[in-house]
Amino acid sequence: MRVLITGASGQLGVELSKLLSRKHDVIKVYNSSEISDGYRLDLTDFPRLEDFLIRKRPDVVINSAALTDVDRCEVEKERAHKVNAETVRHMVRVGRVVDAYLIHVSTDYVFAGERGNYREEDTPNPVNYYGLSKLLGETYAMSYDDSLVVRTSGVFRHKGFPVYVYKTLKEGKTLLAFNGFYSPISARRLAQAIEELVDLRKTGVLHVAGERVSRYELAMKIKEEFHLPGEVREVNEIKGWIAKRPLDSSLDSSRARKLLSVDFQALDIEGMVI
Ligand code: NDP
Repeated sequence: MRVLITGASGQLGVELSKLLSRKHDVIKVYNSSEISDGYRLDLTDFPRLEDFLIRKRPDVVINSAALTDVDRCEVEKERAHKVNAETVRHMVRVGRVVDAYLIHVSTDYVFAGERGNYREEDTPNPVNYYGLSKLLGETYAMSYDDSLVVRTSGVFRHKGFPVYVYKTLKEGKTLLAFNGFYSPISARRLAQAIEELVDLRKTGVLHVAGERVSRYELAMKIKEEFHLPGEVREVNEIKGWIAKRPLDSSLDSSRARKLLSVDFQALDIEGMVI
């Protein structure tokens, strides 16, 4: 199959490209971080995006591109809306014409974080603009019958909280860990799960994320695992954050666990690229 991956230069996109290239004809799309054999395309250039999709006629589009900097989204709302929401509308428009299956990657931040362990049917209620823009993107994706929204949480590879923890503690510094909960997953495991989902061609919404853990507990696990010298201190808020964060945005992924063979729940610390 011809599989087009947006955000191919991002954490998830790199792992997806690697995995899917073994079985499929993969078209990699990046914007500012150049990758070999990739196509440079600013997805917010909508006429070019539509033209590109029509010319490539992919069987599957995996949209892993996003403006993922939560504080930047709070400040640059218009840009966040364009990247995280409007692009999906245009993908769906072309998807209908070329008959492509769309997998759209979304986030636990669509939830308010008041209770955690969110299931697919729970009502989203984002507390920041990143979450809202991603929720709008989901809505566009779901307006298309042949689409799957994969909600995930705390993706890590060469970026993400675990990598920050590792680097900070390795330097012997003190790390301030927010006491909120989430369900982190390595980009590698998430890509493996998505590879299976491409074959299953499921539609609707599916949660694919790791075990529920607080950032403090996670930081302590990494400290112990790698015998790192720095200290971890638990805090209620992080100075400098612009956007509000959900307190417990963990996802219940039991539906995906029944469906998929890959064990994406266990914390895959080896999935860190440090
Ligand atoms: P990254 O931040 O690592 O990568 C984002 C990607 O989006 C990059 O490849 C970037 O391209 C691309 N991109 C951004 N703007 C544009 C644009 N205008 N045109 C084309 N491409 C663009 O993201 P992750 O891999 O970590 O995240 C993957 C998905 O998972 C996203 O949808 C995100 O919302 C979701 N998610 C992520 C979480 C996380 O903790 N990271 C948590 C929950 C969900 P370039 O760098 O080349 O400009």
